[in-house]
Amino acid sequence: MLSLAEAQAAILARIQPATRSETLSLAHAHGRYAAAALHARVDNPAFDNSAMDGYTLHSRDLATHGFVLPVAGESSCGSAPQQLVPGTAMRIFTGAPLPAGADTVVMQEDVERTGEQARFPQDTQPGAQVRRRGEDFHAGELLYAPGRRLSAYDLALLSAAGVAEVSVHARPRVLVVATGDELVAPGQELRPGQIYESNRLATLLQLEALGAEAADGGTVRDDPVALHALLTGAGDFDFIITSGGASVGDHDLVKQIFAEIGEIGFWKVKIKPGKPVAFGRVGARTHFFALPGNPVSSLVTFKLFVEPALYAWHHSQQPVLELPATAANSFRRSPGRMEFLRARLWSENGEMQAETLPGQGSHQIGTLRHTNGFIRIDEDSKGFAAGERVSALPLF
Ligand code: AMP
Ligand code: MG
Repeated sequence: MLSLAEAQAAILARIQPATRSETLSLAHAHGRYAAAALHARVDNPAFDNSAMDGYTLHSRDLATHGFVLPVAGESSCGSAPQQLVPGTAMRIFTGAPLPAGADTVVMQEDVERTGEQARFPQDTQPGAQVRRRGEDFHAGELLYAPGRRLSAYDLALLSAAGVAEVSVHARPRVLVVATGDELVAPGQELRPGQIYESNRLATLLQLEALGAEAADGGTVRDDPVALHALLTGAGDFDFIITSGGASVGDHDLVKQIFAEIGEIGFWKVKIKPGKPVAFGRVGARTHFFALPGNPVSSLVTFKLFVEPALYAWHHSQQPVLELPATAANSFRRSPGRMEFLRARLWSENGEMQAETLPGQGSHQIGTLRHTNGFIRIDEDSKGFAAGERVSALPLF
């Protein structure tokens, strides 16, 4: 059986990344991945300007004319001001261009204005309150390397840099299917032996959030003919993600059918929850993930295997945030598999605390109410005592 790292490496070695890109306006590029380097088109700030509402002057004049200067003219946002008349100060507002001949701004709260005269503080520093052209970034400067997943802030920054559209990798088309004779949709009455299906929705929504184009393939029964038809007919997709039927039971047909019609890269990984997970390929180019049916296993395996694969598709890398925390309670177990415990994480006096939650069964989706992260335990660990250092993975 593969370790988590081996399984993840096997996925990354097999993913065929996106070959197509498209150009989108910034408003449509949220959560997409840059297909080319993105450079600033202008300096930021684009011109020297005022950081404050106040008065601008040349510091030299304070020395030669004393600290009282006549006020002449105004620089406001959106237009170019007149040149500063030597020996005078000019009214100026936040973001307005510094007039030629000025080098300093004094905030209006520090200025005593009497009619057309203004008195400036003795300790006025030359160059104060001026935002310099290009001090943030320069025209032509590299802002983002290819593969960058574009957040709202990234898109705002690109706007400020004068970039109107970006080339991004094509979204992968992902088919999501739940399997199981017991599954019914919420809203229907449960008959004996039936349960409400929940994995498909989480998977579809997570895919959308990660910039994929997710298609709802519905729920398929544990029937070899139906499963076969579904999986062989999915050649147009870049990925297929199934949940359920990937284990060793008589009705666990998904992995078997994948093996018949495709090529299994691996099956089973030394992790808990989520051991019965399969990855491989069907047809010429469709990657498949057969995720386990237990809701928490489905969530964990999505994070551990599907997410890095999606990033790899976009020529990018999944960001993984793992931080040291102090265990708030103890947890004992037998070693053998890397384990992901649902946990409550919080900070106390600047230190992260992590509490293992009761209800760690992989069917116990209810525990997710209190979960905001995982504690990760290494394969050979027997657990930890309260107060020990553990590795925590915050969930956002
Ligand atoms: P399986 O992986 O098919 O052996 O299923 C393992 C467990 O997860 C069983 O208890 C199933 O009833 C449950 N399960 C399977 N698929 C889903 C699903 N889509 N939503 C909720 N529970 C599921
Ligand atoms: Mg099943």
